[in-house]
Amino acid sequence: MGQVRVVEASVHRFRFELDKPFRIAIGFTKVKEEIVVRLVDNAGNIGWGEASPSPIILGSTPDTVLAALDVLIPTILGEDPRRLHYLVDRMDRVLLDHAPAKAALDMALHDLVGQVTGEPVWRLLGGSRAEPVDTDFTVGIDTPEIMAAEAEALVAAGFRTIKVKVGEAPRLDLDRVRRIRDAVGDNVALRIDANQGWTRAEAVWALVRMADYAIQFVEQPVAAEDIEGLAWVRQRSPIPVMADEAVHSVADALRVVQAEAADYVNIKLMKAGGLRRAVEIATICAAAGVPNMIGGMVESNLSATAAVHFALAEGNVVFRDLDIGERPETQLVAEGGSYIEAGQQLLADRDSPGFGFRRIREEWLVPVKTYRFGEGGEREGSIAA
Ligand SMILES: [Mg+2]
Repeated sequence: MGQVRVVEASVHRFRFELDKPFRIAIGFTKVKEEIVVRLVDNAGNIGWGEASPSPIILGSTPDTVLAALDVLIPTILGEDPRRLHYLVDRMDRVLLDHAPAKAALDMALHDLVGQVTGEPVWRLLGGSRAEPVDTDFTVGIDTPEIMAAEAEALVAAGFRTIKVKVGEAPRLDLDRVRRIRDAVGDNVALRIDANQGWTRAEAVWALVRMADYAIQFVEQPVAAEDIEGLAWVRQRSPIPVMADEAVHSVADALRVVQAEAADYVNIKLMKAGGLRRAVEIATICAAAGVPNMIGGMVESNLSATAAVHFALAEGNVVFRDLDIGERPETQLVAEGGSYIEAGQQLLADRDSPGFGFRRIREEWLVPVKTYRFGEGGEREGSIAA
């Protein structure tokens, strides 16, 4: 294989607009701008990654991701991408936080190592097989009637698990859950996500009543920083509690399991800072007897594919919230990668190297900046015209 070096990194903006705004307890998404990273090695192999900024959940915007990449990319240029652990540690040493930017580079490095070695990422991560995995689909906040109709349509499309966004007002949320259960019948699993929208008391009031509707678990009933509150609700809730916004980093995961604050932890590549850190969070949770879900933000099918590879490899992931990249306007990967069919996420080709992207719609990308590893070892940057 000889010497392998990352010789070029280019960053791009990718903007899309959802036909219906996606509404959760603490805000909504209509227009989204992702930052897409493309790494090239000295043999011409290409690795792709995506950052999905979110001001309210991740504390990031497209511009903060670009600023972070400006600091992080020089630590990757000229390096052998196979030194994955070293490079991910190094990113943390040069810049605190900025998980979405780190996730994009971690992803692109994994894809590149896949190209270099000829292995799919799920196998690089130690997975044993790549069967289709079931995923839920999320119904955003709306009137109870509209939410029930959307849930029914999803069941008709083949989804066996529906995730319901709540956390607005407990009484209205209870009505949402009741109507959706009535609409979908008893053979569909329902899980709910309050996105920090309730107080401790509201959470317990709602969860005690929602237990009648066979709810699998509730995500993040109270504020992200209120770990004690999460534990308090968990002790009083008949429905298992999952931490989502309370766990971004590996250290957060340790804190939450030590506080016995959650039955489950939701891992997202954008919170964790990529696949490497996601594996570490799963390891901590597994040691504590806390199973994981893999979820995502409003993302394209590029980073969705990375999450599917993680789901295939990581044994502690027992729930999948991978309704990501299913809308046509988010399908940056034109051929290859993962796709959703009848409530399952599948790889187009389970043995193709890296994430298995065969064609990216590069015409959708707006170039921002290209960084090149110089002949003499110096690092250069050039702003795109
Ligand atoms: Mg959530």
